[in-house]
Amino acid sequence: MSSSETPSTTGAPDRRPTIGVDIGGTKIAAGVVDGSGRILARTRRSTPATDVAAIEAAVVDAVTELRREHDVAAVGVAAAGFVDAGRSVVTFAPNLAWRDEPLRADLERHLGLPVVVENDANAAAWGEFAHGAGRAGDRAGGAVHDVVLLTIGTGLGGGIVIGDRLLRGAAGFAGELGHVRVVPDGHRCGCGNRGCWEQYASGRALVREARELARQGTPLAARLLELAGGDAEAIQGPHVTQAAAEGDIAAVELLADLGRWIGEGAASIVAALDPAMIIIGGGVSEAGDLLLEPARAGFARQLTARGHRPAIPFEPAQLGNDAGMIGVADLARA
Ligand SMILES: [Zn+2]
Repeated sequence: MSSSETPSTTGAPDRRPTIGVDIGGTKIAAGVVDGSGRILARTRRSTPATDVAAIEAAVVDAVTELRREHDVAAVGVAAAGFVDAGRSVVTFAPNLAWRDEPLRADLERHLGLPVVVENDANAAAWGEFAHGAGRAGDRAGGAVHDVVLLTIGTGLGGGIVIGDRLLRGAAGFAGELGHVRVVPDGHRCGCGNRGCWEQYASGRALVREARELARQGTPLAARLLELAGGDAEAIQGPHVTQAAAEGDIAAVELLADLGRWIGEGAASIVAALDPAMIIIGGGVSEAGDLLLEPARAGFARQLTARGHRPAIPFEPAQLGNDAGMIGVADLARA
């Protein structure tokens, strides 16, 4: 920041809003966010996923649009990828063209503002902790300082806040909970390994199991097949959720299996981290109690020191798709 942009109240905290940018595989969402997590303005661009320069240009364009109406202090950028400990370089992004991309330096040069870069699941965890489900603990009495966010979408994302700080790790790669191995020699994962938690506790796993069931020709899958137009390979997560909401036995069981994997895995995470709360987000979590009740049951069965420790609630995420944007805007402020 140049001195001409610095407020005259030298030494006082900068109360100007910040901009959060969430770079997804198909769209870039950007918003002006104030200190209480409120989104004051927002815009979006489509993601030119295979073109490094075009992605950065789209981010610069979106931020520039927002700055026409809002004086902001900094910019945070969340991206689905591994971000170095200095919150500067995207070392690897599976779904984008980035390899060792110096995103922070590039964007600061173009924008003339301080920039931080953060993994999208980490940013979402911080957003839910600071301005979403983590605040529910305050209302129930007693602030929450330690939370784990599980984002159950197509894959399984994780983020960890311990002692009011985002856990980033030595390299910056902490919180990759989806790639904790839960089944030796299990299903192959996109990361190259086998048996990762993501292969059992994600929308992709739900769809795989639903399609497999339908391919068997069992009458149990009749409603799922009907919703997918008669084609087992066309079954999608929302078909399962809809059928389960109607009371379809197979769909209810598919969600219960998924919930069990989530709950039992969460018990292992709790054994290591001892959070006060597990926050469950992502599109699949919209199945609500059809998913969360089996998750809580699996968790309770598997939890170490069960009966001798405070209850650890599973709270639904509150910020939806805005969690990453709000979280990374907040991280840019700190
Ligand atoms: Zn994996």
